Amino acid sequence: MDGLSALEDALRRDFSLLQFPTRSWVKPRESRDGRPISNVLIVGAGQGGLALAAGLAREKVDRVVILDQNPLDHAGPWLTFARMHTLRTPKHVTGPDLGLPNLTIQAWYEAQHGSGAWQSMELIPKETWAAYLAWYRQVLELDVRAETRVLKINWSAGENAFEVVARSGGVMQTHLARRVVLSTGIEGSGSWHVPGFIRDALPSHLYAHTRDDIDFAALAGKRVGVLGAGASAFDNASVALEHGAAEVRLFFRRDELVKVNPYRWAEFVGFLKHHGDLSDADRWRFVRQIIRMGQLPPADTYARACRHERFHLQPGSPWQQVESLGNALRVETPRGTFELDFAIVGTGFITDLSTRPELGDIYQHMALWADRYTPPPGEEHADLARHPYLGAGFEFTEKNPGSAPWLRYLYNYTFGCLLSLGFGGASISGMKYSVPRLIAALTRSLFEEDKDHFFASLVNFEQREF
Ligand SMILES: Cc1cc2nc3c(=O)[nH]c(=O)nc-3n(C[C@H](O)[C@H](O)[C@H](O)COP(=O)(O)OP(=O)(O)OC[C@H]3O[C@@H](n4cnc5c(N)ncnc54)[C@H](O)[C@@H]3O)c2cc1C
Repeated sequence: MDGLSALEDALRRDFSLLQFPTRSWVKPRESRDGRPISNVLIVGAGQGGLALAAGLAREKVDRVVILDQNPLDHAGPWLTFARMHTLRTPKHVTGPDLGLPNLTIQAWYEAQHGSGAWQSMELIPKETWAAYLAWYRQVLELDVRAETRVLKINWSAGENAFEVVARSGGVMQTHLARRVVLSTGIEGSGSWHVPGFIRDALPSHLYAHTRDDIDFAALAGKRVGVLGAGASAFDNASVALEHGAAEVRLFFRRDELVKVNPYRWAEFVGFLKHHGDLSDADRWRFVRQIIRMGQLPPADTYARACRHERFHLQPGSPWQQVESLGNALRVETPRGTFELDFAIVGTGFITDLSTRPELGDIYQHMALWADRYTPPPGEEHADLARHPYLGAGFEFTEKNPGSAPWLRYLYNYTFGCLLSLGFGGASISGMKYSVPRLIAALTRSLFEEDKDHFFASLVNFEQREF
């Protein structure tokens, strides 16, 4: 603990050395009935929401609040449905630290365990990442309202602000905010997805999505089928094997597993910082290629499953049909038919703003890539076409210009920003450049909106020098 308090002292010193300009500057606003209006309301207290709030505090933007439906310090997948042992990202990838060495996970870890321990750690355990985020929230005193679910976001012309309806502990709340940031996670622009042909054919006791709570102990002695070859599919296959599943077959479409990770290619300044500055055609071709190259399990995740003799890879085997057999299921693939006792669906999430309850009243106003860009023949991609067509600062844009001008005050910091802005929300690798980009967009928007107020404050400025 001594190491940690010394680090916190050093961090406080960093902040005091770097505090210029010191003045809180955003013009406070009250509602018509005298309630304070937040300057920025962030939905989601994961790494993204926390880093944004920390960045805003550094830019002296006050009245920032974070709402999260999960219990405190349990945001995101790390302590719930993530079933890997460690982060997939290499440990040297910095993210929420805002460029402050004493705010990095390495500094925090070494302060407690010594540099030797950090050197000998290959990848960061997911619980360690969650603990770092909890410390980050505490040491920066970020205002997180946990166990608070945002139900609806609407624009109130009367208040010239967003009305954010939430529920916490069964009590309804209405928050007013000038700017709202959706930092709602990797699936925040859509939803976790079970293909319809599976959902329609199987009773719920025969399958689960990798996002779901799964009773792995009940899979002991069972024949388990996993659909998908991404990291989560392999993680769940391993947990089923480690709980004694009789066999686990992992089915995937390609003839062989992807071995090259385009995310590692993407980790350079040019792409991380400037993908968002490219033309529509260039942005589409880069992201279309990343998607085409596919996702894969990290080496340790792959090895974790393959060390089990009861594990079988099923390449070239997309599920063409599934059938319930009561307490078992039959799966038909181009390479044969399999009888299984349980299916784990590792098909990830889809991008579809209409599936977000909190956007239920407003998503129809939002421009999508399908509204703005037509890819060359052969380069089409249904999910990318549903990505929101965001502005350079992560702000939503109008499908029909003039119909919802307030959309420019609503920001998307989820994985749904991939096509518009590259690795922004919901990826540690993208945070170094995406957090400052979004912070700059927010401070610019607040300054611009109140420019007359600021000009008046200049005209009336009377602080005498002597
Ligand atoms: C299993 C898994 C493993 C991953 N591993 C890595 C990795 O190793 N490296 C990497 O860079 N990325 C990884 N990612 C991707 C990404 O970094 C994580 O998803 C990360 O959690 C994203 O952080 P975030 O702050 O954007 O969202 P999250 O951490 O998901 O936080 C968003 C929060 O918003 C809350 N929320 C959503 N909607 C509402 C609402 N309406 N009201 C209130 N709260 C709401 C959610 O409950 C959640 O707590 C992984 C993703 C998954 C799913």
